[in-house]
Amino acid sequence: MKKIVIAIDGFSSCGKSTMAKDLAKKIGYIYIDSGAMYRAVTLYSIENKLINNEQINITELKQRIKDIHISFLIDPTTQQPNTRLNGINVENKIRSMDVSSKVSPISTLDFVREAMVKQQQAMGKAKGIVMDGRDIGTTVFPDAELKIYVTASAEIRAQRRYDELKNKGLNASFEEIIKNVRERDFIDQNREISPLRKADDAILLDNSKMTIQQQQVWLIEQFNKVTKE
Ligand code: C5P
Repeated sequence: MKKIVIAIDGFSSCGKSTMAKDLAKKIGYIYIDSGAMYRAVTLYSIENKLINNEQINITELKQRIKDIHISFLIDPTTQQPNTRLNGINVENKIRSMDVSSKVSPISTLDFVREAMVKQQQAMGKAKGIVMDGRDIGTTVFPDAELKIYVTASAEIRAQRRYDELKNKGLNASFEEIIKNVRERDFIDQNREISPLRKADDAILLDNSKMTIQQQQVWLIEQFNKVTKE
């Protein structure tokens, strides 16, 4: 069967990754979490003191961006992709609240986006890929054969994120999370370069009242429709 490119975009914590990961596994495609790439750049910036009190050292980050290598490796135990930053597994570190609160400003920078989009396009060259993010259907793969745009209310998304962090045994405050969700929504939708918006040919999915299983069934239906056309 001919392989296609699947772009899944939407707001933060709306369950895109869960859906995208599951679909990729079912259909034998590669899954790429583009948000993890922006998170890895943010972690690099924090660890190298390129962000201090919300101030980003843009000049230095611009010079170092070519030294930031992000890759994904399947964990043999969980069978899930782990994000690697310059060869080191940073999967847990990039999910911290510290990274979450700084990632949106970092991802507004033109040279950061340019570098990430280039890497993402290279990953999708051979097709057979499911990528989730904010600008996959609009900028990274405007010709993707299947585009989904996912949305859910901010409260529901914050609750999901809270449950996810708690399940991982990480510290979490619901108030802090919902504030972060709203802030990121605002920055992601209003930034100058590649703002979050639905591509004209994307299918809209509001999953506020859907179970994970219902979403999985819906998504595989969309995939089957496109590949059987
Ligand atoms: O998907 P996730 O919430 O982990 O993404 C983290 C952040 O990275 C988002 O809030 C957004 O600012 C940024 N991002 C982006 N473009 C993408 C994916 C994520 O700007 N394609």
